[in-house]
Amino acid sequence: MKGRKLLMIPGPIEFEPEVLQILGSPTTSHVAPDFIESFGKSLEMMKEVWLCPSGQPFIIAGSGTLAMDLAGANLIEPGDNVLVISTGYFGERYAELLKRYGASVKILRSEIGDIVPIDKIEDVLKSGKFKILTFTHVDTSTAVLVDPKPIGELCQKYNVLSILDGVCSVAGEEIRQEEWGIDVALTASQKAIGVPPGLALLVASEKAMNTWKNRKAPVGNYYADWGNWLPIMTSYAERKPSYFGTPAVNLVHALEKSLDLILKEGMENRFNRHHKIASAFRLAIKSLGMNMIAKNDTISANTLSAPYYPEGLNGSEFLSGVTNSGVIIAGGLLGDIKSKYFRVGHMGSVNQGDILTTIGALESALMAADYQFEIGTGIKTALAYLNS
Ligand code: PMP
Repeated sequence: MKGRKLLMIPGPIEFEPEVLQILGSPTTSHVAPDFIESFGKSLEMMKEVWLCPSGQPFIIAGSGTLAMDLAGANLIEPGDNVLVISTGYFGERYAELLKRYGASVKILRSEIGDIVPIDKIEDVLKSGKFKILTFTHVDTSTAVLVDPKPIGELCQKYNVLSILDGVCSVAGEEIRQEEWGIDVALTASQKAIGVPPGLALLVASEKAMNTWKNRKAPVGNYYADWGNWLPIMTSYAERKPSYFGTPAVNLVHALEKSLDLILKEGMENRFNRHHKIASAFRLAIKSLGMNMIAKNDTISANTLSAPYYPEGLNGSEFLSGVTNSGVIIAGGLLGDIKSKYFRVGHMGSVNQGDILTTIGALESALMAADYQFEIGTGIKTALAYLNS
């Protein structure tokens, strides 16, 4: 029997075998020709995945929080006004992070499970005092999806730099960074990008790079300073050796492979696959009598889902029941409602078999908890949708 359980948390995810194999290859020098080629190609492919042909990509060893830090450290100067649109846990994190760089932060918070209406954002931006706006494309604590397009438009109208936290969205949710006028789109390797944890990834617009170039105050973070990293990215792009901090050699090789697989699938196909699997999962969950945190389908993420436990169900027993059925899912993350819901990741390499297995494991755990429902309802609903 296969001892391994299916990993369905919202990152790290299940990785493609070809990507994992690379991690076991002998580590080369960070100035070896094959590594330089791999780094250079990865930078080129990032621009295609982000749909940002004129952007400046960065690949730096670290987690998603470092990617958030990179944008904050390089773009904020003490006293800058920043508007943070918060749809959950990670919006609050961004506000805290930006304060460290001396930003004066205003937070616009959504109701739990909702987004901040665009006219409310415009009312605040009208004051003309904001230099930067940040928002979380998919907040991993609530599975709420924010539409980046109108936010990008507003930011251009009011000449505000836009930063999209795409840690739980890039390469899963539709992003057209350049067309939508998003200045920074950042992520980490372990989610829809499909590479084990350890890489902070970011693409910055020309406007963002110029803002950094024209800053008066020095960047208050040595490791994150683009002044240290831009020459490295430029060298690798030109296929020349370079050094500032030792790159995560094997992870970069793995990134090249994963980006190649993503582009072979094609961005449109990838967005559609995520949408289809997420829709099937949501329908299945609803057919089992559970409700999502996200208020409606338009603002529901396609990379993960966050359903409330049914009334009266013991959450931790339910989670153990799912694990015992061979699938690992995640508990809640957001403060007050943490114990009332669970999260299922469905991004990256996820396929129909994975989602059906997950629904089966949820049904097994519901049966073990004596929850009253017709066995097979979730599977039946998902299958009907997937084959319609
Ligand atoms: N932003 C979002 C939306 C996330 O989901 C996460 C990770 N769950 C982060 C930021 C932070 O990333 P990391 O844990 O890799 O530092």
